Amino acid sequence: LSTSLEAVWAKLRNQDVLTKDNIKEPMQEIRRALLEADVSLPVVRKFVKSVTEKAIGTGVIKGVRPDQQLVKVVNDELVSLMGGTAAGIEFAKTGPTVILMAGLQGVGKTTACGKLALYFKKKGKSVMMVATDIYRPAAIDQLVTLGGQVEVPVFEAGTNVKPAEIARRGLAEAKKKNIDVVIVDTAGRLQVDRGMMDELKQVKSAVNPTEVLLVVDAMTGQEAAALVAAFNLDLGITGAILTKLDGDSRGGAALSVKEVSGRPIKFVGEGESMAALEPFYPDRLASRILGMGDVLSFVEKAQEVMVQEEAEEMQKRIMEAKFDFNDFLKQTRNLARMGSMGGLMKLIPGMNKISPQQIADAEKSLKVMESMINSMTPKERGDPELLAKSPGRRRRVATGSGRSQEQVSQLVSQLFQMRARMKNLSAMMQGGSIPGLGA
Ligand code: GDP
Ligand code: MG
Repeated sequence: LSTSLEAVWAKLRNQDVLTKDNIKEPMQEIRRALLEADVSLPVVRKFVKSVTEKAIGTGVIKGVRPDQQLVKVVNDELVSLMGGTAAGIEFAKTGPTVILMAGLQGVGKTTACGKLALYFKKKGKSVMMVATDIYRPAAIDQLVTLGGQVEVPVFEAGTNVKPAEIARRGLAEAKKKNIDVVIVDTAGRLQVDRGMMDELKQVKSAVNPTEVLLVVDAMTGQEAAALVAAFNLDLGITGAILTKLDGDSRGGAALSVKEVSGRPIKFVGEGESMAALEPFYPDRLASRILGMGDVLSFVEKAQEVMVQEEAEEMQKRIMEAKFDFNDFLKQTRNLARMGSMGGLMKLIPGMNKISPQQIADAEKSLKVMESMINSMTPKERGDPELLAKSPGRRRRVATGSGRSQEQVSQLVSQLFQMRARMKNLSAMMQGGSIPGLGA
């Protein structure tokens, strides 16, 4: 977090209410953060204008500082700009659902075809892919290989048949075989050009797709708005897939998609493997664009369930590094109240890439921890140093809980690690700064 940014937000913190004047500076910082995240300039302008209007209109909310209030408005507006909730795939009322993939060369169309194929297969649908990229001989092989990986048939007709004709034949074949979902891969070019658009339009009218998905590389910078506009005007898109979000781009292109086309992002690609496809959650990307993890919503959620006094007491103990095994138990129970570990862990910055398996493991290990804490004497719970110092005590806890001494040692060192981490986090929260914003 840059010091200038910190100073700007600190000033706002001491105000009573958001006004046109006192949010000017913070809004400039937001504007800069968005431009740094590669959000297109016209989109940024519109965004800043609407946030300014909304922020001024919010008045005083008891217990919420003006700077927090502004961050919330910014975050909410980002989320709604990207479409609010996650949008799913439309299915055809009768016959196969046809998904036409479009986009520039190298953005990840063919990869996304394979990923979608696997996604639908896992949902119990029968899937077929159709190869219409006849310009690079390797493109057909690539799709066939991916089809092999995800065990989905690929329809191809070599490189001498026109793409629209291949698509038409592919669809006919799929109908014959009672296929549920047909995914049509297409050729891209390095830039938007007439030839590509005409070809895509021909493919589109040949198969009358249920979905036309524009595949957009998350690294696409300022030009995302023009790109989306071009594809939408010429071809008409029903949604987009944002790829390569596993890279270090902040994903500002996402904002342009909804703003320019009115169509939502439906999926994000987060890696080269076939499983690396996720539904698009606007709130997660909003946090990423602002670069603040989800610290804010974590705080919000935590405050909902923790009784205020209890929270203050806990905070004091954390600040004084007195956090012990009693607190640990209390915290675990609070966490349980906050909902599944899964939902919670997603809120912690850097922890949002956790698999269901890891979540299940974490929930199990929480139970193991509880069993060990239950075997501690009250004195040991209140003074973890006792356990840290005495192998004899650790052995007794291990025997009492039916765990290994190693597990007990691990738990003890974990508590000390937690003390350190929570101290950092609470310093951040108390400072009221927005970690990472625009940094
Ligand atoms: P196409 O030309 O649009 O069909 O693009 P491809 O599907 O051939 O992908 C181009 C390159 O990007 C390949 O090396 C892919 O492995 C890679 N790629 C595609 N999607 C992703 C993604 O979500 N993350 C990463 N890291 N790489 C991706
Ligand atoms: Mg391709």
